[in-house]
Amino acid sequence: MSATAIVGANWGDEGKGKLTDVLAAQSDLVVRYQGGSNAGHTIINEHGKFALHLLPSGVFYPHVTNVLGPGVAVNVPYLLREYGEICGRGIPAPRLVVSDRAQLVLPHHLLFDAAEEDRLGARKFGSTRAGIAPFYTDKYAKLGIQAADLYAPDRLRARITQSLEAKNVLLRHLYGREPLCVDAVIEEVLSWADGLAPFLADTTELMHDAVASGKEILLEGQLGALRDPDYGIYPYSTSSSPLAGNGSIGAGVPPHAITRIIAVTKAYSSCVGTGPFVTEIFDEDAHELRQRGGDAGEYGATTGRPRRMGWFDAVATRYGCRVQGATEVALTNLDVLGYLDEIPVCTAYEVDGNSTGRFPVPAKLDGARPILETHPGWKCDLREVRRYEDLPTTARDYVERLERLIDTPIRWISIGPRREEIIVRTP
Ligand code: GDP
Repeated sequence: MSATAIVGANWGDEGKGKLTDVLAAQSDLVVRYQGGSNAGHTIINEHGKFALHLLPSGVFYPHVTNVLGPGVAVNVPYLLREYGEICGRGIPAPRLVVSDRAQLVLPHHLLFDAAEEDRLGARKFGSTRAGIAPFYTDKYAKLGIQAADLYAPDRLRARITQSLEAKNVLLRHLYGREPLCVDAVIEEVLSWADGLAPFLADTTELMHDAVASGKEILLEGQLGALRDPDYGIYPYSTSSSPLAGNGSIGAGVPPHAITRIIAVTKAYSSCVGTGPFVTEIFDEDAHELRQRGGDAGEYGATTGRPRRMGWFDAVATRYGCRVQGATEVALTNLDVLGYLDEIPVCTAYEVDGNSTGRFPVPAKLDGARPILETHPGWKCDLREVRRYEDLPTTARDYVERLERLIDTPIRWISIGPRREEIIVRTP
């Protein structure tokens, strides 16, 4: 009878997709509220293994209405392709609803994302080139196109014409590329209209009705707290807020409806792309953890890029839980650490010669050094365990130490990538 947000406490890739898939079973609606096709969730269930990028993680349950809220960057061809692929693998056609206010990723967003990364060369941010930064730039510069504009051709033409005037100057003179033709862009964008039409709706009404009638709502965050443009590691951040607080805006539910916020974190750290990563490990240590992590090694679900690896960072995670407003934590990938004799954990940072438990501003983060303590490993396979009390004492000690460090109750412990590989810890 409330909304639950499942969000990342770290850099993304914490295993939110798996948890959303587990909780979607008891939900009526699963809603994406920000981001676009630039990150992926990995879900493994009885139908197989899926990497979802734009579709909400409730698509495997016929009873769930999956919603893309107004805050999402909707790449229409990508969405329709992903939907078609799911159906093509024998999943019953998911119930999908896209907000008529959601804005669309346009051909020039993709073009500008790639052109800017190429221009930056070695200084690039490691964009996934999915057009997300140019999309949100245009949204807030009031140059975006809402889904409903596809069915208002005069408005569409006027808005694209206005947007391309300035963009073509940049394309020609900054990036040395051919200008875009307004007619060609309009033709391409209009070609999406028929495919998108069956999914479009006023999701603001839908969400408010769902709240009023006591439906179970799951808000699904993309990436994690440390990618937030304000609270994260700017500028190695994403262009929309992955915080649960933004779930209210991006999904269209009243703030007071979000009563439960589950922050997901791994039992170690991983990070894709550039930027400071205080507990990073390298060489053989990193290679071994990367190969053993996740369901098939720690490689980006969208990009295939090897993830950077590190020990559990209690400073970053406590901060991540705080800015998310986490009411509870899901700790994933605990099984992965079963090979280690000793497990390091970062309990504090050394910044400017002082030890601190506070997560510093980005300007101080490059110089931060991890202060580590070590825990005895459990040296066994945890994937068959289903009850907390059946975990080895050393594993429980590890979980309880992390819980104290991050100051948030760990209610879920994931010990494998599959749906059933989860331990629910009652208070
Ligand atoms: P998300 O974007 O937060 O959903 O995370 P990703 O799907 O990108 O990355 C999480 C990875 O960990 C995926 O490969 C999952 O299949 C995998 N995974 C999730 N939970 C567990 C777990 O408890 N144990 C193991 N071994 N893998 C897990």
